[in-house]
Amino acid sequence: MGKARRGIRHSLILMVTLPTVILSIFVLLFGAMMFYHFYCQSIRDELAATTNMMVECLDLTVRGDYKYEDGRLLKGDLNITDSTMLYRVREKSHIDTTIFWGDTRVITTVEDEDGISAAGTKAEQTVGDVVLATGQDYFSDKVGVNGTKYIGYYKALKNDDNSVVGMVFAGKRRSTVYHKILRILSWFLGFSVVAVFVAVLCTRRYSAGVLTDINSINHFLQTISEGTLGEILDERIRKRKDELGDIGIYADKMRSNLQKLVEMDALTSLYNRRSGNHMMAALVEQKAVYTAVMCDIDFFKRINDTFGHAAGDQVLIEVSAAIRNSVGEEGFASRWGGEEFLAIYCLDLTEARERVEALQQSIRDLVVNYGGTDIQVTMTFGVTESTPAESYEKVVKRADEKLYVGKNGGRDQIVI
Ligand code: GH3
Ligand code: MG
Ligand code: MG
Repeated sequence: MGKARRGIRHSLILMVTLPTVILSIFVLLFGAMMFYHFYCQSIRDELAATTNMMVECLDLTVRGDYKYEDGRLLKGDLNITDSTMLYRVREKSHIDTTIFWGDTRVITTVEDEDGISAAGTKAEQTVGDVVLATGQDYFSDKVGVNGTKYIGYYKALKNDDNSVVGMVFAGKRRSTVYHKILRILSWFLGFSVVAVFVAVLCTRRYSAGVLTDINSINHFLQTISEGTLGEILDERIRKRKDELGDIGIYADKMRSNLQKLVEMDALTSLYNRRSGNHMMAALVEQKAVYTAVMCDIDFFKRINDTFGHAAGDQVLIEVSAAIRNSVGEEGFASRWGGEEFLAIYCLDLTEARERVEALQQSIRDLVVNYGGTDIQVTMTFGVTESTPAESYEKVVKRADEKLYVGKNGGRDQIVI
C-alpha cells in the first residue's frame, strides 16, 4: 500500500511539474531569442537614426567636402575634429559614436578598458569592404570595435561628388545589451521557479487529500471483505464531488446491501436467526435482563395446503409486521425458522406479557387477503424472562419448551 501511495504521488507531481518545467525552458529559450531579435532590431533603428542624424547635422551646418590634413578632419575649411557632439550623444542615449577618415577612427567616444580613446585605430576589414567600397550602410550585432564586441551601425561619409571618404559609426556594447536581457530573463526564470514550486506544492496538497481518502476507502473495503459490516465510511468521502465520492457512495451501498443480505430475512424483513443469536449475545454481554418469546403459527401447513405457498408467504409477511410492531423500539424480532419467530422484549416479564397478549389478539384479528380470499391464523407463544448472565441458548431453550407446552395444550395460547 505504501508503494502505491508513493507511486501515485510521484506520478502526479511528475505529471504536473514536467510540462511546467519543459514549458518554462521553452519559453525561456524562445523568449530570449525573440527578445534579443526584437531588441537588436530596435537598437538597429536607433543606431541608424543616430548615424543619419550625425551625417545630416554635418551636411546642414557646414558646407564643403571632407578633408583630412595634419591629423585634423575638415569640412570645407572648418575643423570638425571636435568630439563634444559625440560625447553629448553618449550622455543622452548611451550610444558610442565615431567619425572615420577612411577606415581610421578620427573622432570617437569609444575607449578601451583603461579609458584610452580608440582614436587612430582602424575599423574591421569587413566594415570597410562594405561601407567604403560600396557606400552602403553596414549593421552587425557582433562587430569588433577596438577589441570589444559591439552592436554597431556604419554609414558612409560622402563628399558632394558622392565619393566615400569615411564613415560614421554608432554602437552599443554587446555586453551591456546582454546584461539587460539577462536581467529580464532572470526575472522570468524566477517566476518559472516559483510557478514550478507552486505546482509541486498544490499537487502535493491535492494528492495528500486524495490518497488519505483512497486509503480510507481501502480500509473500509478491507473491513467489509473481512466480514465486518457495521463500519461507517467517513461522511467527508461520500460528500466528495468527484469519482472518489462515487466510489465511496457505492462502497457504502454495497456494505448496507450486504448487511441486509447477511442479517435480514429476505421474505419478512425481520432479522434472521444468525442476527438474532448475535443480538442476544450482545444483550448478555451488557448483562441486560430481557423477556424472550418463541412463537409459532398454528396449523400453518394447512394454510399452504389450502391456499397455496404464495398465500402462506403473504401470511408470514403480515404476521411478521405485527410481531415487529409489538416489539417496537424495545427489542427486536427474528425469524427463527419457517413459521416460527423469536421476539425479544427488553422489558421485564410483566410489561412484556402485556405486549404479548396484545400481539396474540392482533394476530387473531389479522385478516390476510390473498387473491380475494381472507385468511386468518392464530399463534402459540412461549414466554420466559432471562436471568442475569444466563446464556441466551438457555433462555431460548426455555421459551421453546413453553411453546411446545402451548402447542400440546391446544394452541392459540401464551405459556409463561
Ligand atoms: P403447528 O401448529 O404444530 O405448528 O403446525 P404447523 O402446520 O404450523 O407446523 P408444521 O411444522 O407441521 O408445518 C410448518 C409448515 O410451514 C411446513 C412448511 O412447508 C411451511 N413453511 C415453512 N417455511 C415456509 C415459507 O417460507 N413459506 C411458506 N409458504 N411456508 C413455509
Ligand atoms: Mg406451526
Ligand atoms: Mg413450526
